[in-house]
Amino acid sequence: MLSNEIIKKLLKEYEETRQRNERIHQNRLKQLYRDFPRLKNIQETLDTMGIEVAKEALKNPSESQRIIEEFEAESHELMKEQAILLTRNNIPLEVLEIPHTCPRCRDTGYLEDAGKCPCFNQKIVKYLYSQSNLQEKILEENFENFNLDIFSPRAKEGEISQKDNIQSILSFTENFVYQFPRVKKNLLFYGPPGQGKTYFCNAIAKYLLDKGIQVVYETSFKLIDILQRYRFEKGDPLAKGQYGLLFEADLLIIDDLGTEFNNAFTNTEIFNIINGRLLDNKPVIISTNLTLTELDQVYSSRLTSRIYGNFDMFKFYGPDVRWQK
Ligand SMILES: [Zn+2]
Repeated sequence: MLSNEIIKKLLKEYEETRQRNERIHQNRLKQLYRDFPRLKNIQETLDTMGIEVAKEALKNPSESQRIIEEFEAESHELMKEQAILLTRNNIPLEVLEIPHTCPRCRDTGYLEDAGKCPCFNQKIVKYLYSQSNLQEKILEENFENFNLDIFSPRAKEGEISQKDNIQSILSFTENFVYQFPRVKKNLLFYGPPGQGKTYFCNAIAKYLLDKGIQVVYETSFKLIDILQRYRFEKGDPLAKGQYGLLFEADLLIIDDLGTEFNNAFTNTEIFNIINGRLLDNKPVIISTNLTLTELDQVYSSRLTSRIYGNFDMFKFYGPDVRWQK
């Protein structure tokens, strides 16, 4: 699901780690050989012997077994001497080996069975977080910390209570993230501020990012800023990258739709993004403080009809609960 470019970028980081560790290793050895010239001497002897033995074994294949055994016996003695010298001076034997930041994959990102090392998966999640635009606070705004008790259990005649409404949205969204991306859905959260819409957006983003899914989160204000810079400041590489992500990310969350300065340009651009993603079967979540009637007034009917036809819609209502958290 991740683009090859991201993988390539992360593998490059591994390469840099290996090079850095190699430099650390060489510097340590230099210091060590300065302090203990005998160690340098041993290492050089081992290296030369190794090359000689390989040559000789190739020349006399029938004798190769014996040649190698002799070499092993001899090199064993030298290594023992090396080890004694180090231990006597309280130097750990590891000093002779290249250090690895991750010993499991030796900083390659892959395990011996060719599967990804856990450190690679961590790296991916970290990278996805850095690209998602989400703030630190989403670490707290997740499904585990969700507190249903702050919502009002009182119901008006013929309506379900705020609490029951939120409960059913919670079940739906938990199922949504659980099944993502096997089942793909687009969601619209609408209703007045202070009802928990942004909390839901954050909880969804966190859950999916932790699974290694690429989520990009933008307020509509920021979204328009990206679109404008992309269109009018050609050659701005940052805007180009951010613009591309709006289409490519596995999930795009647009928070607070309707707060942006709205005109024909923004209307068309927002349509292009949502329509493009629908055509590619890439989900979108929108939250807005507008009512459906207001959405119809602000946006073109081609945009709203795409939303009504393709999104699961959730109405938030009841008292403002933000102050109670
Ligand atoms: Zn690793």
